[in-house]
Amino acid sequence: MPSIISVSNLSKTYGSGFKALKDINLEIKQGEIFALLGPNGAGKTTLISVICGINNLSTGRITVGGHDIISDARAARSMIGLVPQELHTDAFESVWGTVSFSRGLFNKPKNPAYIEKVLKDLSLWDKKDSKIITLSGGMKRRVMIAKALSHEPQILFLDEPTAGVDVELRKGMWEVVRTLRASGVTIILTTHYIAEAEEMADRVGVINKGEIILVEEKASLMQKLGKKQLKLHLLSTIAAIPPALGAYNLELANDGQDLVYNYDSTADRTGITSLLGDLRSAGIRFADLETNQSSLEDIFVSLVKQP
Ligand code: ATP
Repeated sequence: MPSIISVSNLSKTYGSGFKALKDINLEIKQGEIFALLGPNGAGKTTLISVICGINNLSTGRITVGGHDIISDARAARSMIGLVPQELHTDAFESVWGTVSFSRGLFNKPKNPAYIEKVLKDLSLWDKKDSKIITLSGGMKRRVMIAKALSHEPQILFLDEPTAGVDVELRKGMWEVVRTLRASGVTIILTTHYIAEAEEMADRVGVINKGEIILVEEKASLMQKLGKKQLKLHLLSTIAAIPPALGAYNLELANDGQDLVYNYDSTADRTGITSLLGDLRSAGIRFADLETNQSSLEDIFVSLVKQP
């Protein structure tokens, strides 16, 4: 798939002298959902605001849909919708008014049918005449998305779209994002809810201390770095792993009650069948067993912890 955003050798140093982004290279593919993960202060918002032209870059080059964000700023910006982290809308304006006004800011001709579709897609149609101040937090967040979509952008940035949003609404938001992607919009989201990236993203990028430390297809990332574990709850505790089982990568846990086997689920042979046979020969019986796979959260934590 072709890139819709291309970031090369990007660095950003704030006026204070703080280097928030260090030599970032990143390609965002057309039509994907890209999740940008990173701890607090990693540089996620800085990266988004530089791509959107809100902050200046210090060195490097960014193109959006082939338009250089500096020499062809207007064309680049018009392709982007941005939903910022903080909710700021005109409290006393109506939903319809504020979304239509946003479209006008991009010099787009009026298109009430399009605005109606956006509000309907975001389940805001019955609130179109309501003043923003009368809406719930979740509705206000959807109004922010409607504003960002008002000028028909091909790219949508969502900076922490579900921060402070309850589980039900979060799921609703995911549906909205999926619908947008199905309509061809490329989506870049930052999130602290790693489950959100796990659920939604096609690709995941991890940023830490201003550097991109990894960009990978979510599925292959989880396959490559995700560990699988088989836990056997023994019928009676054992004091040590019998030497006959020394060849297996086993750990004793829960005061000798559980035997834990770490294995690679993608390998040709997991070793589970022979392990169970050898356990039987060693006279070790178990009452129950369970398997677990590490989550994107486990992977993320171990990546960010690395020196
Ligand atoms: P969070 O998850 O907390 O929103 P983030 O990954 O979005 O964090 P940024 O807001 O991009 O992080 O901040 C990256 C770093 O740049 C932080 O150390 C922050 O203190 C610093 N920073 C942000 N804005 C400015 C500014 N205007 N002047 C100086 N430093 C800044």
